[in-house]
Amino acid sequence: MTAKLIKGTEIREKILSEIEKEVKEIKEKHGQVPGLVTILIGANPASISYVTLKIKTANRLGFHEIQDDQPADISEEDLLALISKYNNDDSINGILVQLPLPKHINEKKILNAIDPDKDVDGFHPVNVGRLMIGGDEVKFPPCTPAGIQEMIVRSGVETSGAEVVVVGRSNIVGKPIANMMLQKGPGANSTVTIVHTRTKDLAAHCKRADILIVAAGVPGLVKPEWIKEGACVIDVGVNRVGEKISEKTGKKIAILRGDVDFDKAKEIAGSITPVPGGVGPMTITMLMKNTLKSLKFSLGIA
Ligand code: NAD
Repeated sequence: MTAKLIKGTEIREKILSEIEKEVKEIKEKHGQVPGLVTILIGANPASISYVTLKIKTANRLGFHEIQDDQPADISEEDLLALISKYNNDDSINGILVQLPLPKHINEKKILNAIDPDKDVDGFHPVNVGRLMIGGDEVKFPPCTPAGIQEMIVRSGVETSGAEVVVVGRSNIVGKPIANMMLQKGPGANSTVTIVHTRTKDLAAHCKRADILIVAAGVPGLVKPEWIKEGACVIDVGVNRVGEKISEKTGKKIAILRGDVDFDKAKEIAGSITPVPGGVGPMTITMLMKNTLKSLKFSLGIA
């Protein structure tokens, strides 16, 4: 059996065109577009490339986009003042502080200073609490888990009553996606198990999964014999395992591998996400969706 590929790149295009259409309609009717500010501290190359992609996507969608670059030695006080300025700016619906932050800045203090109603990353404790309650209470689901759920739903996989096993318990992927899949409602209603480094028999749990979501950051952790025949496998892991020369650009690029042994797993699974091109493209897409949602909340049309 060869699994159906769940391609994040294709799903991204569909969602982005839906957002683009809605942005145009809201602009015509209400004269406003979603406003997103990205605050980048210092010049970490990985952060720069991530932020560049966010800006490109926001511009393509017709958002009002501000890139606010700050020096690596900015004081915590000045950064808090900057966040306060954007909290009070009505043209801004989403505030993003690119992580990681320099060592002298308390990350928790900074993220908690963002107005929860502009926290489009969904990391503020208020939004984490809202996610836990579920239903109408949820404003901004965190972007990578929201992307995972969209991929599962849009590829037609039944979630109601499904055994979902999540490998990993991080605050940005494992815990929120597990919470989202067990909520009452469409795209959820699953029976969820979270497994982690202290789990006794990882293989036995994975083998039970109708939907296996792996976010461990360990290349090839999930072996093909751990996968149930016909299961949906979502591989969140992005691991750099080497470098190669790009055929397109002639430049050195990273060789990326997921947490699942893809080549063998695709012969057993019913559907599977590739790495790269699977979950990866969904995160920025869902960030854009949350920013649009934030504008809709402020206009009272969400
Ligand atoms: P993390 O390091 O914060 O958490 C990893 C979790 O996996 C931990 O809870 C740990 O207990 C568990 N784990 C690690 N090794 C394990 C093992 N051998 N057996 C069982 N459990 C194990 O990582 P994270 O931030 O959740 O990210 C996980 C992976 O997903 C990384 O590869 C990361 O790069 C990737 N990621 C991708 C995207 C995206 O594509 N958009 C977004 C976020 C994270």
